[in-house]
Amino acid sequence: MGSGTGLLEGKVAVVTGGAQGIGFAIAKRYVEEGARVLLGDLDLAAAEAASKELGGEEVARAVRCDVSSYEDVEAMLDAAVDAFGSLDILVNNAGITRDATMRKMTEDQFDQVVSVHLKGAWNGTKLASLIMREQGSGVIINMSSISGKVGNVGQTNYSAAKAGIVGLTKAAAKELAHLGVRVNAVQPGLIRTPMTEAMPQHAWEQKMAEIPMGRAGEPDEIAKVCLFYASDLSSYMTGTVAEVTGGRHL
Ligand code: NAP
Repeated sequence: MGSGTGLLEGKVAVVTGGAQGIGFAIAKRYVEEGARVLLGDLDLAAAEAASKELGGEEVARAVRCDVSSYEDVEAMLDAAVDAFGSLDILVNNAGITRDATMRKMTEDQFDQVVSVHLKGAWNGTKLASLIMREQGSGVIINMSSISGKVGNVGQTNYSAAKAGIVGLTKAAAKELAHLGVRVNAVQPGLIRTPMTEAMPQHAWEQKMAEIPMGRAGEPDEIAKVCLFYASDLSSYMTGTVAEVTGGRHL
């Protein structure tokens, strides 16, 4: 058991995009609470370094996975079952941005973002639920964004994909509830990660001005909500969307 209170003792979790940022923070929380975790990421070397930091192969492993590939996602989930014996929690977290106003956005930039976020989350939700329904239990958490609730200029691709993830979450929750599988979504606001550190200063300041709590969030503040959704603390919640934004875009 880690330094937490054992909320996920004995559980097996897969976190996509787990090599850094929010995904890594989620994996860290899960390991601290007693789970064993498999990180799936495009960047295998980074995912391996991350799993080492989490405590090595007894508790954390890494595989290369492009979530937009059905075969890659299938192989990633099989690897978790092979390594640790079950699949109790999947966090569909992997993501990219390809921001541009519609005038400048290319068809390829639209397709890439929809494919990683929306198709990636569908691949994970479908394939994990096949394993979880056999077990009679499981939890799936889909990483949306507040951008999917309000729409952001320069993000017609990302906002569409993140809103789509909410629809996917609700439909899947209804299909899977009677099988013991819960599906929920998280909508982070502005969180300090490599993704947002790439943002121009003026865009960062503009977003900060919209946050009632007056600060950006830290990755662990998303991880704590993902711990709640992964654990029995949320045993009667499915199909819900948690806004974790410091009050932005209420
Ligand atoms: P991040 O630091 O860029 O981390 C994303 C991770 O996903 C990276 O390790 C990346 O690998 C990986 N990845 C990208 N494409 C992938 C693919 N096709 N298959 C597998 N892994 C892939 O981003 P983050 O800020 O932690 O974001 C995590 C999630 O939260 C995303 O879904 C994002 O949209 C969402 N979110 C973030 C914020 C925020 O403010 N940060 C706000 C709302 C929502 P590479 O480095 O190799 O590309």
